[in-house]
Amino acid sequence: MKRIAIIGGGISGLSAAYYLEEQRRQGAALEYILFESSPRLGGSLLTQHADGCLIEAGPDSFLTEKPWAAELCHELGIAGQLIGSNDADRKTYILVKGRLVPIPDGLMFMVPTKILPVVISPLFSLRAKFRMAQEWFHPPRPAGTDETVAALVERHYGPEMVDRLADPLLSGVYGGEASGLSVRAVLPRFAEMEAKHGSLGRGMLAARKRMASSKAPARPLFTSLKDGMEQLVEAILGRLPREALRTGTTVREIRRESPRTRAPAPQDDSWSVMWDNGGAEKFDAVILATPAPMAGALLAPVQAELGAELSGIAYSSSVTVTLGYERAGLRLPPGFGFLVPRSEGKRMLACTFVHNKFPHRAPNDRALIRCFLGGARDEEILGWSDQQIEAAVRKELREILWLTAQPLFCRVYKWTGAMAQYGVGHLERLERIERLRQQLPGLALAGNGYRGIGVPDCVRSGKDAAAQAAGLQAAVTAVTPAKNLLPQQPAR
Ligand SMILES: Cc1cc2nc3c(=O)[nH]c(=O)nc-3n(C[C@H](O)[C@H](O)[C@H](O)COP(=O)(O)OP(=O)(O)OC[C@H]3O[C@@H](n4cnc5c(N)ncnc54)[C@H](O)[C@@H]3O)c2cc1C
Repeated sequence: MKRIAIIGGGISGLSAAYYLEEQRRQGAALEYILFESSPRLGGSLLTQHADGCLIEAGPDSFLTEKPWAAELCHELGIAGQLIGSNDADRKTYILVKGRLVPIPDGLMFMVPTKILPVVISPLFSLRAKFRMAQEWFHPPRPAGTDETVAALVERHYGPEMVDRLADPLLSGVYGGEASGLSVRAVLPRFAEMEAKHGSLGRGMLAARKRMASSKAPARPLFTSLKDGMEQLVEAILGRLPREALRTGTTVREIRRESPRTRAPAPQDDSWSVMWDNGGAEKFDAVILATPAPMAGALLAPVQAELGAELSGIAYSSSVTVTLGYERAGLRLPPGFGFLVPRSEGKRMLACTFVHNKFPHRAPNDRALIRCFLGGARDEEILGWSDQQIEAAVRKELREILWLTAQPLFCRVYKWTGAMAQYGVGHLERLERIERLRQQLPGLALAGNGYRGIGVPDCVRSGKDAAAQAAGLQAAVTAVTPAKNLLPQQPAR
């Protein structure tokens, strides 16, 4: 009987547990234990309710384009609960000099593909529009070494595009800055388009033509679950035996026992897992599904170089604030919400009009507003009290939306070190990690620190890790950049 430890009970670890459970039910000779330090499972998937409204403390949806989370929902029998975003109302604004300016039609993740809407939009200065026109003639550039997203975007469109679009779009996804994130890890398609077409605009149009000719039916950009993202957690938990779940248990140390120290010599190496109250157990395989720095800390005594590589993956923190209002008398703009460039000098990074973005989130007479703060440049806010954060958010909502009404409720959620930042050289780091991991039989890694931060990527990472740990297939996480590693939230 193969024994597998899963450390971390967020969506990555839970997905690993689900796929192991499926193998077990189909007759595979394995058992597993999932260790989670918090009393609850689900990690940053947390759904709560207030005054008839559904509040997402963490992710509110996932990109429809990435199939793994929806596939899991089908397998769990909750596909009927999947809902799409109200794309007919999709409109996102950027705060420019204190005013909300709609992102013009035809901008595909900051790449202009239609001339007129961009030319007449007040979002960009004349100088930036001139750069966009010139970009059309950008010569192909051979794919070289990695660089920041800011460097690539600035080369094509100038600094204003970095400030007004690249930074706000990426801070909404990674809580990071365009100047700190790797283009090859975060926007590999941009690097490919530049190498092939030169101009990103021409590259994007070619991609759009291919998509149009595929005749696939139009799907909503975002998918969620009717009763909230935690419904996915509950459906997984419904399939797992209770005795396999050890909540409130922090793993403090893992040790690898080499065959030489064991008699009689086993076929495989084994692992000891030790947790906080002095408990310890032996396993044949370990899936580390924690944020990468925690995986690094646990692995450092086992393999120092691997520990250091994992600990080198940076994370930022995030704060979400959800406020509910009486809808009557409120004058909010239509659309999904707005993004705030750093140059506007606000604490808020983004704001979603939840009642417009998804059905089933708020009764008709309520407005639900969710704001994002924190990120790589504002770790300080984690030290603020909930009251201070609420006051700061309400002040900025007053300045931006003239929203002076008293909220019916306000909920603040702090997510410390939850968002992985794929820095320049991330893919090369992953290659080194994979090489070192392969030297430790029975070790698998899952989580948002590696090949995608979104919920679907985490589900896929858990599934791959389960297959690796169970020895069902060779290293599934091959070291090639995922083609569809696009940010999951182009518009909050
Ligand atoms: C505010 C916010 C909004 C987001 N919005 C979206 C979105 O809209 N769409 C989207 O696709 N993605 C979104 N994301 C990203 C996505 O939700 C996360 O990347 C994903 O949920 C991470 O899952 P995980 O299981 O890898 O990690 P986590 O959820 O962080 O889970 C890791 C778990 O490991 C446990 N752990 C750590 N150390 C130990 C230890 N030593 N022993 C035992 N347990 C341990 C932790 O307690 C935690 O529960 C968002 C993230 C945040 C924070």
